[in-house]
Amino acid sequence: MTANTPFQENIDRAEGYLSRFAANTTGHYINGEWLPAEGAETFDNIEPAANTSLGKIVAGTAEDMDRACEAAESAFEAWSEMPGAARKKLLIHFADLIEKRADEIALVESSDCGQAIRFMKQAAIRGAANFRFFADKAPESRNGLSLFQDNHTNFTVRSPIGPVGIITPWNTPFMLATWKIAPALAAGCTIVHKPAELSPLSATLLAEISQEAGIPAGVWNMVHGFGETVGKRLTEHKAIKAVALVGETTTGSHIMRQAADTLKRVHFELGGKNPVIVFEDADFERALDAVVFMIYSLNGQRCTSSSRLLIQNSIRDKFLAAVKHRVEQLVVGHPLDPNTEVGPLVHQGHFEKVLSYFDAAVEEGATIAAGGHRREDLGAGNYVAPTLFTEANNRMRIAQEEIFGPVLTAIGFEDEQEAIALANDTEYGLSGYIWTGDTGRAMRMAQKVQAGMLWINSENNRNLPSPFGGMKMSGIGRDGGDYSFDFYMETKNVCIAHDTHNVPVLGR
Ligand code: NAD
Repeated sequence: MTANTPFQENIDRAEGYLSRFAANTTGHYINGEWLPAEGAETFDNIEPAANTSLGKIVAGTAEDMDRACEAAESAFEAWSEMPGAARKKLLIHFADLIEKRADEIALVESSDCGQAIRFMKQAAIRGAANFRFFADKAPESRNGLSLFQDNHTNFTVRSPIGPVGIITPWNTPFMLATWKIAPALAAGCTIVHKPAELSPLSATLLAEISQEAGIPAGVWNMVHGFGETVGKRLTEHKAIKAVALVGETTTGSHIMRQAADTLKRVHFELGGKNPVIVFEDADFERALDAVVFMIYSLNGQRCTSSSRLLIQNSIRDKFLAAVKHRVEQLVVGHPLDPNTEVGPLVHQGHFEKVLSYFDAAVEEGATIAAGGHRREDLGAGNYVAPTLFTEANNRMRIAQEEIFGPVLTAIGFEDEQEAIALANDTEYGLSGYIWTGDTGRAMRMAQKVQAGMLWINSENNRNLPSPFGGMKMSGIGRDGGDYSFDFYMETKNVCIAHDTHNVPVLGR
């Protein structure tokens, strides 16, 4: 496996995979063709480990996006009418091809977005699992309900909503793209994918695999470029019936406005400031492992990261000392080094943003118990020391704003009521984690904590049929299992009379 191979070997193989991106400008995939990049405006794709360019990417235009949306519109009828079993076969073939290119996907993804290879080796496996799961559901995607009345029988049928726009972020781009695209295709929708401009390479690999898998021209389109240009156009185009976004909360607001004129259905998976609540009766060691894992894995660039630790005062000093010890041991380094636990942040702008919270923490009166500085010793990349803030309170910016880095803010609480109040005192409501040995308390907390997803005595375990999504400013809608089909499909009710009721009579 990639993650266990020596560092230099990973670098050599990554260079092999990346050389074509360095040699050629990376363009769009529209209507089954790779568009030539001649004359197009481009931007440099900067890698996080040294801030050098991995190659040029075409900065798409509104006209490029129009062509992609039109291609998706033209391909829709045939794709939506293809029997579910045939779509299933194609999507399973697609999953097989992802697995075949797992090594390439992991190394390219890790180089492009800075996530440590130990986590990215899972990217292809999870991406393939997403496709297999929804492929299996494709034949039943149209299923509905039977609803009986005395004189009528109602039944519902579902049909794909139409061409859809999928807009994805930079943090774990491959996995997130498959998570959104697999159910859309299984439902019978055609797609236009707009990947994040900061980590565009794995979207290119995905479009290549779609071509190799034999997904018909126009069913899968991918346009590179910036949110304000191609992303905006995608959300405005009248052929597009729904937009699924994974991104920042402010982007969700923009898209809601942009999509209003064409009255699109929207599904948003947005930011979070997720609490992990540790009570004195929790299993100390398991809670410790989970707290550290859920903020420092994936560079803390994870929407469900537990970035606020709410710790019961009776065990606060002991628990925070243990967290601090762990944080100081974390291995920060090159993303392709198999020993690395925390890699460089995705780009310089984001790096500066994360660093700015170190000053903010001190100005607001918090204590930097660990980290709080960049790791200059690691060179020109966006390396930050994993950081723990203590003596914080919930009014501070470090407790309210999504920092999206390996940075944990710890806040003490006295009892259950205060824990609930602190957990809910945020504009976000994506996920929450509760650690307690008291089942009754766990059940009470599960009712009261405002979040789309709660884990009790666990970290971020995923179950693909379960609903995934947030409340409050963390999102609209749910993905997973049938919830995804509810978004990508229209439900029609058909009402059939038993010929036993009186039809109202007028003018006889
Ligand atoms: P972002 O919102 O800046 O960008 C996401 C995508 O939206 C990019 O492709 C971008 O080009 C596009 N975009 C930006 N402005 C647009 C516009 N006006 N119209 C159309 N498209 C536009 O997010 P990011 O910085 O790439 O990703 C980090 C954010 O994503 C964090 O807030 C994180 O919490 C969130 N996220 C949420 C989940 C979840 O499931 N809730 C998962 C992963 C990431």
